[in-house]
Amino acid sequence: MNLNNLLTRAARSFPDRVAVAHGAASYCTYGELAHRAAGLAGSMQRLGLAIDDRIGLFMTNCPQYLEVFHGVLHAGMATLPINSKLHEKELAYILDDADAHAVFVTPDLAEKAAAAIDEVGSAVRMFVVGEGEYSDLLSGEPVPIVHRAPDDLAWLFYTSGTTGQPKGAMLSHRNLWDGTLNYFVDIDRVPANGSAIHAAPMSHGSGFYGLPHLPAGAKQVVPESGGFDPAEIYALIEAHSEVSMFAAPTMVKRLVEHDSCGDTSNLRTITYGGGPMYVADCKRALERLGPKLVQIYGQGESPMTITVLPREDHMATDHPRYEQRLASVGYAQSVVEVRVADADDNDVPAGEVGEILVRGDVVMKGYWDRPEVSAEALRGGWLHTGDMGAFDEDGYLTLKDRSKDLIISGGSNIYPREIEEVLLRHPAVSECAVVGRPHEEWGEEVIAFVAPVEGETIDTAELDKLCLDNIARFKRPKDYRITPALPKNNYGKIVKRELRIWLESEDHG
Ligand code: AMP
Repeated sequence: MNLNNLLTRAARSFPDRVAVAHGAASYCTYGELAHRAAGLAGSMQRLGLAIDDRIGLFMTNCPQYLEVFHGVLHAGMATLPINSKLHEKELAYILDDADAHAVFVTPDLAEKAAAAIDEVGSAVRMFVVGEGEYSDLLSGEPVPIVHRAPDDLAWLFYTSGTTGQPKGAMLSHRNLWDGTLNYFVDIDRVPANGSAIHAAPMSHGSGFYGLPHLPAGAKQVVPESGGFDPAEIYALIEAHSEVSMFAAPTMVKRLVEHDSCGDTSNLRTITYGGGPMYVADCKRALERLGPKLVQIYGQGESPMTITVLPREDHMATDHPRYEQRLASVGYAQSVVEVRVADADDNDVPAGEVGEILVRGDVVMKGYWDRPEVSAEALRGGWLHTGDMGAFDEDGYLTLKDRSKDLIISGGSNIYPREIEEVLLRHPAVSECAVVGRPHEEWGEEVIAFVAPVEGETIDTAELDKLCLDNIARFKRPKDYRITPALPKNNYGKIVKRELRIWLESEDHG
């Protein structure tokens, strides 16, 4: 069940449909994409690359990404997509850890990749896409698709490392196939004239959401800038039909805050997730874009497939628990079982917080080359996500931050997200993050980092009042730090670890 059958079947049935667009223009048809993938697979085999070899994709979003991705799968090798914003040292770490055999890079990243390969010191072949040798590889003699068993490795997915060293989550052909089919069940039904814009990195969720567009014979659109530019995205929405995209909550916020949003009638669905979407931001997005939002909660270890908050719940403003549901991540997706458990893996009742555990055919096989950590993460057959959360009586799950971010003050658990939700209601607050600082008497005390909306100043007395009016006194920040922006990792996620280090250095200096 090689996942690439999704492409070869589509190419047989609709060879002339556009498979990939670059900006507003067509880049290649299904027939061309499948032919190039089979040609690239043949060339890689002839170069001595073998089944199961890990092949890196260190590329800025570009149409060639899809040629390489499918070529590697076609050849029965494992794709190793790597975030293009990573530092040379991080890239070297991943190439070494995954024992990569080759890496395809875009010209803008060639220098960085060459330096990383030097650092690794092992023989990793580098191919620069779009240049001379690359077109020879694509036009190699096509080979038949290599058969793969359901549990064979298809995508080695390095976690973002917010909680330690990145680890490679081993995603099999079955994992990705099930996740693809589940998109139709829980997220959206892709029409034949659908267009998926890769507004977010293709090495991550956006690339994963390209897959359901294959069986539908729909189109994937790569922005010409290769990055995220709200004006360009609005232009692409106008240029294509039945548009969907995956976006991090911060991207949705930037889209909504953009001066002019043009005509969004071609926009079908924005699926957001990967980090918290605050209720105030979500409401603003709904006002601006209409009934087009779906939320997912997932992690590399169960990609995009833990829970879903469907479109209808975003629109059910009359529901008595509307706001509560918007603040939740929805209910379990159809392909997984989800539980909330205590430290001994026993279920906790609705309303109580515990660790979120997941089981199903989309859950990774384990971490690459880390048998002990894998056994620990998958103990009892359940993926231990490291995320804390609580179910309500209706099976809607609310995330309560990662266990590491929990603040314990005077013996009480304080979930930063709850305080952040309140602070973000203030119109002058653009971003915020709440962390714990060690305190002799209380164990920890609450500190809020707040970034103002451009041109606004923040009055901390007003923030304090907002907290007093909305949450228990003991959860109120004891201190505020106003900062122009919060530190983020290459995936746009706020890195609270850095904020804690910042506080520590204040104490010592
Ligand atoms: P990654 O494996 O890099 O995709 O990071 C996954 C982590 O992002 C999860 O374990 C959660 O902590 C967080 N996350 C994912 N989706 C959501 C969501 N919808 N709301 C809040 N946090 C999320």
